[in-house]
Amino acid sequence: MKIALIAHDGKKADMVHFLSGFKDILHQADVELVATGTTGSHIQKAGFEVQRLLSGPIGGDAQIAAMAAQKELDMVIFFRDPLDKHPHEPDVQMLMRICDVHNIPLATNPASAELMFKALTQA
Ligand code: PGA
Repeated sequence: MKIALIAHDGKKADMVHFLSGFKDILHQADVELVATGTTGSHIQKAGFEVQRLLSGPIGGDAQIAAMAAQKELDMVIFFRDPLDKHPHEPDVQMLMRICDVHNIPLATNPASAELMFKALTQA
């Protein structure tokens, strides 16, 4: 199970808080986490093992999209900040489009991510 994690700046604290609520699942040996650069450093500081890619605005979202296109991901959690502007908006749209093209579960807010993680615990 490989899960990609991305959070816009206004949502990074929400991401750490969200993940902390699912420590038991996320610390399982068969769960691998991958994240964009800055999101990843926040997640690492919270005690999780995570593969860090480039920062989102310089290509990290595109790297995650490439992994999704190659079917290397089982789930994408992308906490977007709808109240802020992003210079890499085209990459954001591209990542979401690729998830839809390849039917990869994509949660863009904590409520939907929680439902997806709860489904994991029941699997
Ligand atoms: P970051 O990238 O984790 O490097 O901040 C996230 C994004 O803004 O796409």
